[in-house]
Amino acid sequence: MLVLKFGGTSVGSVKNMTNVKNIVSEGGRKVVVLSAMSGTTNALVEISNTIKDGKAAEALSQVEALYQNYVQVVNDLFSKDSFKEESLAYIKAVFEELRTLTSQKHSTLLYNKIVSKGELLSTFMFSRFLQQDGLKASLISAFDFMRTDRLNEPDSFYIKQNLNRVLEAHADTDIFITQGFICLDADGNVSNLERGGSDYTASIVGAALEASEVQIWTDIDGFHNNDPRFVQDTDAISHLSFDEAAELAYFGAKILHPQTVMPVRDLEIPVRIKNTMEPKAHGTLIDSSAEGEGIKAVAAIDGITAIKIKSARMLQASGFLKKVFEIFEKYHTSIDMITTSEIAVSLTIDDATYLKDIVSELEEFSKVDVDTHRTIVCLVGNNIVHHPDTHKLFQILQDINIRMISYGGSNNNISLLINTSDKTETLQKLHRYVFETALA
Ligand code: ADP
Ligand code: ASP
Ligand code: MG
Repeated sequence: MLVLKFGGTSVGSVKNMTNVKNIVSEGGRKVVVLSAMSGTTNALVEISNTIKDGKAAEALSQVEALYQNYVQVVNDLFSKDSFKEESLAYIKAVFEELRTLTSQKHSTLLYNKIVSKGELLSTFMFSRFLQQDGLKASLISAFDFMRTDRLNEPDSFYIKQNLNRVLEAHADTDIFITQGFICLDADGNVSNLERGGSDYTASIVGAALEASEVQIWTDIDGFHNNDPRFVQDTDAISHLSFDEAAELAYFGAKILHPQTVMPVRDLEIPVRIKNTMEPKAHGTLIDSSAEGEGIKAVAAIDGITAIKIKSARMLQASGFLKKVFEIFEKYHTSIDMITTSEIAVSLTIDDATYLKDIVSELEEFSKVDVDTHRTIVCLVGNNIVHHPDTHKLFQILQDINIRMISYGGSNNNISLLINTSDKTETLQKLHRYVFETALA
């Protein structure tokens, strides 16, 4: 069994949906996970924000504008009247519900219900689009098997049992189509795997079915060696290990949801990144083997907060770090980078929801400095920590104010904390020197 996930651009137009149809109609039995059409989730988030601002009438007109787009898509997508009519009726019902939601009080559940509609729309239309051509395709609802537990982690046991049950009920189907991103929480309420979560859905489904491969089809020809949104002339990497891909995704490479690798890593199910618009391009294979030497790729994540905790009592005191970590644990806030000296410890977090509480508890026994608007730049490659040219990094970045360095935590990763205002320059400098000259 194969699992193929197609992102927003891949299902974002009739032309691209036709490409997707051609890709999925070849080969054996498969599960196809779809995102919402590009722009839709952003539009739904916008509607939710407008409701939050108390502007119900404006939200209603935003719903109306989006509805008109979908009427157009349905009219363009279907040539047979019965399929067109059925799809128009479906989108009409979805938008009727959205209209009702605009008059409700804002809550997380309301947001979750609103943003779930994008994937419901794309999968309905795409399943009917395949059926119109006589393909043996069935739409299966993610709400029948995707569920998170009390810790907000995928409930793998529940997912495996229920997904297999759903598939068994469709012995005749070649192509199963389901929604990425959306799920139910432990209480059975509509929820999601956070922005970009369709990749994660695909790997959770791949693990549950012990698939032979999980394919992530997107709008670029693979995992690039630097962020193409900030750096020109980046190249696709043909191979990454699970660990390398996990580090890059965690530290900001938007092409993969940060958790994508986790469900499949232990099962050694390969993940392949492919370009929907260029299906013949090699793409990137992610598996358990580690290849190559030196720096393979760079990624960056913004929105980082650095916290420096200084205490004279830290000097030769055992148990100091334990006390610090317990405070972060209490507020469910994970630490990304950490460096220590004899009298101070600096660390970073990306979720500052409980920053005030954390700082006030830390201040009971130390002096605390907080810096916001920081960025972590992460360099990844097999054994880079031992590469003879790695020291050149510091020459290359001599004009950049580096606030923290994490080196040696693993052999495959070096992380630097910088000011967000220096991000583009840092990525470009690293690219020029690392990939074009020094460490290539
Ligand atoms: P999809 O809608 O298919 O999920 P995304 O927009 O989430 O697509 O991810 C693909 C985009 O990620 C690319 O178009 C590119 O702009 C961006 N991106 C950021 N870092 C990388 C990288 N290292 N390699 C490839 N693409 C990247
Ligand atoms: N549609 C969702 C989003 O835009 C999920 C995804 O595309 O992966 O975040
Ligand atoms: Mg994505």
